[in-house]
Amino acid sequence: MTTAGHTASEGDLLHRYATVRESIEKAAARAGKPADQVLLVAVTKYAEPEQILQLVQAGHRDFGENRVQQLLQRATMLDEHVSRMRAMGAVLGGDPSARSHEPIRWHMIGRLQRNKTRQVADACRLIHSVDSLRVAEELQEIGLKRDKPVEILLQVNCSGEAGKAGCPSPAVLHVVEQIHSMIHLKLRGMMTIAPDGEHAEDSRPVFQRCRELFEEVQTEGMVDPSFNILSMGMSGDYEVAIEEGANLVRVGSSIFGSTTTDDAEPNQAPETD
Ligand SMILES: *Cc1c(COP(=O)(O)O)cnc(C)c1O
Repeated sequence: MTTAGHTASEGDLLHRYATVRESIEKAAARAGKPADQVLLVAVTKYAEPEQILQLVQAGHRDFGENRVQQLLQRATMLDEHVSRMRAMGAVLGGDPSARSHEPIRWHMIGRLQRNKTRQVADACRLIHSVDSLRVAEELQEIGLKRDKPVEILLQVNCSGEAGKAGCPSPAVLHVVEQIHSMIHLKLRGMMTIAPDGEHAEDSRPVFQRCRELFEEVQTEGMVDPSFNILSMGMSGDYEVAIEEGANLVRVGSSIFGSTTTDDAEPNQAPETD
């Protein structure tokens, strides 16, 4: 990272980030809500560590990963970075209310691996990818042991595609009811991934169905008011998602560019087992 001025690629990154922010603002306006009611999670699976630090420097705080190992590594890296910045701020008498002093918040958006669940729960603000009672029960155990509830979203398969991650929509009310009875979990809402489509509009009916289901859960009175997060929309369709009621979008390639590293997984849903 350069200390004097921006490198060209850094300029590109911040420009793309600003463009995404602007599109979110416009889509939020079309949905009749202020832009600050839509949380942007920057998905770092194709990002270089350097790029993540640049966004942190620019004040961004919410990041998402779909691979456990990478999430843990990057969370550690950023923790160290933020502590360093904080220490420097103290030395330099920096403004403690500045955004750069806020902790980084990680979002797990991919499939959980059994042996790493505890670490992921501790490193994350929110786990978006809980899609079965088996995973919920495992997290419930972790919440009990650490004496702090684990905040989760229920991932729902709203498109009905076979073999796709997510709780099947007909099972959602039942699963929500079960999860709600697990007192070491805090069910904050729902997440969905639209099928890969050529056009953003292809995702609209899927997002509509997910939003209807989300509202049904709310009106059935089976959840707390903190069930209020609807996570849907990626680079190709986040504007449509916001129009259809998303208040959290997960955007990767539109921010970091789509130059995939060779170890990156294809852009697809986590598998279920
Ligand atoms: C990769 C990924 C994203 C971001 O995808 P982009 O198309 O790069 O914006 C969002 N959500 C999930 C679950 C992902 O795996």
